Amino acid sequence: MSEEIAPGIVFRRIHRELMAIHQCNEGLERLPRQLKAQQNRLASAEKAKNDASDLLKKAKVEQHQSEVSLKQLNALNEKYLRQQDEASDPKVFTALAHELASTKIKIDETENRILELMTLIDETNAKIPELEKAIGKTKAELATFETEAASKKADLEGLLAEHKGKLAAIEPKVPAEHSQGYLRGKKATFQDSLASVVEKTCTACQNNITTQMQNEIENHRFVTCKSCGRILYIPGND
Ligand SMILES: [Zn+2]
Repeated sequence: MSEEIAPGIVFRRIHRELMAIHQCNEGLERLPRQLKAQQNRLASAEKAKNDASDLLKKAKVEQHQSEVSLKQLNALNEKYLRQQDEASDPKVFTALAHELASTKIKIDETENRILELMTLIDETNAKIPELEKAIGKTKAELATFETEAASKKADLEGLLAEHKGKLAAIEPKVPAEHSQGYLRGKKATFQDSLASVVEKTCTACQNNITTQMQNEIENHRFVTCKSCGRILYIPGND
C-alpha cells in the first residue's frame, strides 16, 4: 500500500525539486557563456597588444621616412641659400626667398612630426610590457576557469540527476485529479507553476488570498492562486 501524502505537502516537495532542477540547468547554461566571456577577454587582450605593436611598427617606419625627408629639406634649404648668395637678379632673389620660406615651413612641420612620433614610440614601447602581462594574466584566468568549470559542470550534473530522481519519486504522489493540471503547468512554466504562501500572500504574484483559502492551504489541500493560477502551498522543510 502506497503512503498517502497530502497534496499541499506533495506540491511543496515537487516545487523544491523543480526549483533545484531549474537552478542546476541555469548553472549549466551559464558555464559556456562564462567560458565565451573569458575567451573574449583573452582575445581583446591579445588584440590590444597586437594593435600597439602595429602602431609601433608604423610609427617607426614613418619616423624613418620623416628623417629622410628632413635631410632632403635641409639640403634643399642650403641649396637655396647658396643660390640666393650667388643671385644678382633681384627677381631670382625674391623667388628664392619664397622657396626658402616654404621650405622652412616644411622643415618645421617635419621636425614637429618627428617629435610627435618619438613621443608616440616611447609611450607605446612603455605600454607593451603591461599589455603582455595582461595577456599572461588572462590566459592563466582562462586556464583556471576551464579547470573549475569542468568540476562545476560535473557537480551540477550530479545534483541535477539527484533532483530529477527525487522529482520522479514524488510526482506519482500527485492526486490523480490534479495530475493533468500539474503537468500542464510544469510543461508551460516549470518551477513558476507553483508558489508558496506567506502571510496570506501568494509569494509569486503578491496577491492576498482569502481566509478560507488560507485554511485549506494550512490543511495541505489542493489550492490554486485566483490571481496567477499557481498551485499554492505552505513553506516547510520536509
Ligand atoms: Zn499568485
